[in-house]
This record gives sequence, C-alpha cells and structure tokens, in this order.
Amino acid sequence: KPRQDNPLYALLEQAAAFYRQQLRHHPKKERAVSYLKQRGLTGQIAKRYDIGFAPPGWDNLMGHLTTDSTEVKALIEAGLVVENPDSGKRYDRFRDRIIFPIRDSRGRTLGFGGRVLGDDKPKYLNSPETPVYHKGQELYGLYEARQANRQLDDVLVVEGYMDVIALAQHGVTNAVATLGTATSEEHLKRLFRIVNAVVFCFDGDRAGVQAAWRALNACLPVMEDGRHVRFLFLPDGQDPDSLIRSEGQDAFRARMVQQAQPLTDYLFRHLAEEANPDSLEGKAHLATLALPLIEQVPGSMLRRLLRQQLEKLTGMDLDTVPRQPTPTVGYE
Ligand code: ATP
Ligand code: MN
Ligand code: MN
Ligand code: MN
Repeated sequence: KPRQDNPLYALLEQAAAFYRQQLRHHPKKERAVSYLKQRGLTGQIAKRYDIGFAPPGWDNLMGHLTTDSTEVKALIEAGLVVENPDSGKRYDRFRDRIIFPIRDSRGRTLGFGGRVLGDDKPKYLNSPETPVYHKGQELYGLYEARQANRQLDDVLVVEGYMDVIALAQHGVTNAVATLGTATSEEHLKRLFRIVNAVVFCFDGDRAGVQAAWRALNACLPVMEDGRHVRFLFLPDGQDPDSLIRSEGQDAFRARMVQQAQPLTDYLFRHLAEEANPDSLEGKAHLATLALPLIEQVPGSMLRRLLRQQLEKLTGMDLDTVPRQPTPTVGYE
C-alpha cells in the first residue's frame, strides 16, 4: 500500500543536516567537538549516529530553514521551533546543545535529543510528540544497530543516548534506548519482531531499578515460548556508558554472561523480597502477588513452568486456587 510521506520527514532531515554541518563548521564548534572527545567518542562513531550541534542563539535553525510563514508552522509542528503561547514569540527548541537524531527503523529522522555541554538544566531536551514521533513506540539506536549487524541475535535495552553510543564505541553495537520513557509493550513487540532475546541494562540507581520492574511487567504479556528476556543490574552509580568506559568490552560482555538474570529469576527474587515467603503468611503473600503476573504470560510452556516454580516455593497445589485480582507491587 503506497503511503503519502508526511512532509515533516523532509524538514526533519534538513534539520539533521543543519545540525551535522554546524558540528563541522560553526565558529564555536570546538566546544562541542571537545565535549564529544572528552566523552570518549571518535569522529567515526559520531558520524554513524549522525551527531550534530545546535549552536547558541534563538533562531539559527529557523533562519536557515524558513522561507515563508507557513514553514515556521511546519517547524513548530515538527517540534523544532517553540512558540510562546503568551507573547507569540518563536524560537529554536534546541540551542547550544549536542544533537542526537532519533530515527525510525527505515532511517528517517523523527526527532532529536539535545544535551547541554556542561551542567545546565535540563540536561537533556527531547522532541515533543509530533505527528511523526511517538515516544512510546520508538527505540533510539535500533536503526543503527540493524545497520551495524547483518544478523541481530539479541538487543540490549539501555536508558540513554550516551549509553547506546558509548557501547557502540566499544564494539557493543546492539544497544537501543527508551529515552526516559518507560519500556512499553509496543517497544517490546517491535523488538521481538526482530530478535528473540532482549537484555535490559538500566542504570545502577533507584530510577534504573524501578525501570527494570516496569519493563518486566511490560514483558509478561509478550512472553511467548521461545522468547528470552534477561536483566543485568549494574553496580551503584554506574550506567552502561560509565561501565564500558572503565572496564572495556570484554569485561562488560563477561558481566552480561555471568550476571544477567532471566526474567523469571528476577520475578521470583523481587516478589520474595516483597513477601518474605519464609512463613505461611509470606507464602500466601507470594502466591497472591505472583499468580496474576504468571497468568499474563501467553507462552503455555513458560506459564506452566512458572506455576510449578510457585508451587515449589509455596508448597501449594495451584490447581485448587481460583483466579485472583491483580494487586500492585511496590519496588522495595
Ligand atoms: P549523561 O551520561 O549524558 O550525563 P545519561 O544518559 O546517563 O546522561 P540519565 O540521567 O541516566 O542520563 O537519563 C537517561 C536518559 O533519560 C537520557 O539519556 C535522556 O534520554 C533521558 N533524560 C534524562 N534527563 C532528562 C531530562 N531532564 N529531560 C528529558 N529526558 C531526560
Ligand atoms: Mn540514571
Ligand atoms: Mn545514565
Ligand atoms: Mn550517563
């Protein structure tokens, strides 16, 4: 079915070309270039991810891309220009930032992330939802991962742009990022169309631990038999970027092999921490928490094995237990 391409794609492509060019030729490019170098990135990897620079100033992009008033409207629609609702003033969304283009699986630019060069706030600025960019569906780096690997066997899901790029810089070319939004069922369906194994590797901090449990919950309804999900928890204060830079590719890969936990191990470990199944009360609690999660699993073999495991942990015959309503499970 032929689909009329939205003209926003062309505009976003022009914007990406502008930012890319600024990183090479803007008089103030040195700050941006040395920032990327200081983060351990080579020109080659910057090119692969099409990293750019939005120079300081309110209307660099607008001035470059606008030819008449209708185009400014399109720039606003594309999330590139912001209009102040009170004053009506218009200005570039991304200013004085490193620019990361977000592409879809066909390589079309959908939006951007921008990072400050120093410690200003907010650290990252992302494109808003637009007619072509839907955060809950896109995975940063998936296009580049597919370009770099003729055959992708598994995908590593991380939190941030710099995690994806630093991993690629060190030879781990199969990472994608959810970019500050929770992993959705839509993300997972997209990934499982391409691979049958996914490893989550979020930051070693409170937010990362919460993101992992949320990711597990998003995985349950897509756990067909034959699919593998694992979780790698990082040491306190580390993220994939900092870790691979300090320990290198081999140690990082060894960590994945030795320490990544299967989804099912993580599920029971987490629920056991919550329920303390060393008493009958705790076993009852564990069963109450675990059963509604297990029932979401579509893979009939995996679902049976999970029920068996729960029977082992509780000493209970689950065939006699009626279906339970879903309770909420906290993170601690
Ligand atoms: P860096 O290493 O560049 O300091 P990071 O990628 O480790 O940053 P985190 O704070 O761990 O940053 O956040 C993970 C991801 O969440 C970021 O890459 C970005 O996509 C998103 N994010 C973080 N802070 C913000 C913010 N203030 N606004 C929007 N998105 C953000
Ligand atoms: Mn973090
Ligand atoms: Mn981080
Ligand atoms: Mn980081």
